[in-house]
Amino acid sequence: MKLVLLGAPGAGKGTQAEILSKKMGIPTISTGNILRAAMKNGTPVGLQAKEYVEKGALVPDAVIIGIIRERLAEPDCANGYILDGVPRTIPQAEALEEGGVGLDCALSIEVDDSVIVERMGGRRTCPDCGASFHVVNNPPKTEGVCDLCGAALTVRKDDAPETVKARLETYHKETEPLKAFYAARGKLKTVDNQPGIEATTAEIVKALNL
Ligand code: AMP
Repeated sequence: MKLVLLGAPGAGKGTQAEILSKKMGIPTISTGNILRAAMKNGTPVGLQAKEYVEKGALVPDAVIIGIIRERLAEPDCANGYILDGVPRTIPQAEALEEGGVGLDCALSIEVDDSVIVERMGGRRTCPDCGASFHVVNNPPKTEGVCDLCGAALTVRKDDAPETVKARLETYHKETEPLKAFYAARGKLKTVDNQPGIEATTAEIVKALNL
């Protein structure tokens, strides 16, 4: 299964990707996580991306296309993968197609902007492994500590309310048109966000016939 998860920032793509990844035994590829790791390690890509990520803007397509091509060529992607947060623009989707990346399905998680703004305030992210939690909806077993790797959880700089607004605007302008792009190819499925992570997973499982 080669799956793309679409949806606004904070729609739950990362959380659902982790669950689906375990269920299907295929890796999740999150360009957001790759960029955050690169920024933390001060690599050339990280230095290039920092100014965009911190203000909630999109990193230039050429940088993203380079990252994703390299990642998809790794052996663990041979049996499929879940793309989380990429493609995020039409040129990125076209570059994947031109590179021969055949996707089976684009699944969009639909959430109202008002819910997103509320939700982002409670998000906590692991700076080491990229796992994502929420103080109310998805708390870690020990407060402030990553369940997966034990690192101290942090609040992402780009989850500040003004930056979330900018990210939502960018989503509607640059990323939402991907729904029409994949619908035209007969590959779009949509699910409405449900109150609760498991209920949303159940909708996705139904939509994908898993
Ligand atoms: P995310 O973790 O998916 O919310 O991504 C965090 C930030 O990384 C975004 O706000 C962008 O600045 C950048 N980013 C991640 N993926 C992409 C992408 N596919 N295209 C452009 N920028 C991206």
